[in-house]
Amino acid sequence: MIKYDLIRSSRKTLALYVRPDGRVEVRAPLKVSKAYIDRFVEGKDAWIQKTQRRLAKAQDEKKTILLTSEEERKYKNQALLLLQGRCAEFAGIMGVAYGNIRVNKAKTRWGSCTAKGDINFTYRLLFVPQELIDYVVVHELAHLKEMNHSPRFWAVVQSVMPDYKERRKQLKEYHRRIELAD
Ligand SMILES: [Zn+2]
Repeated sequence: MIKYDLIRSSRKTLALYVRPDGRVEVRAPLKVSKAYIDRFVEGKDAWIQKTQRRLAKAQDEKKTILLTSEEERKYKNQALLLLQGRCAEFAGIMGVAYGNIRVNKAKTRWGSCTAKGDINFTYRLLFVPQELIDYVVVHELAHLKEMNHSPRFWAVVQSVMPDYKERRKQLKEYHRRIELAD
């Protein structure tokens, strides 16, 4: 029998989750019986085990990269050179003009841009594949046309990078796996 945490609410359907720590959580309507929920969870046994294995593996693979301040400075310069090149190339294709490019050590965002057209990137981008760096560059440059994440914004991204959804997904995966210690 699989152990699980049960959360009842006024929802209409049963839902099953495996949390990042591997614990199983079931969300259930108020009136569904415990026996019914037990059978439901047992029926999902294979999926639960597969998901728990996948999460455990991701946890093992998570890398923490420790850098000295000297290394950090080097990486920031390296990232700046790389990103200046990529921005120039894609801005030409997209017909946008940007302000200053800066590289910071942000941990939670790959990039951001200001209303003035300055773009910030994190040097963590050096640790992801080139095609994902390019996605971040195109994403930020697209904000110079659309300062939001509306369908119009995504249409701009897609016009330059038809496979952006796949790249975006991969980048999220990296976000989970790479952690830079201060
Ligand atoms: Zn954005």
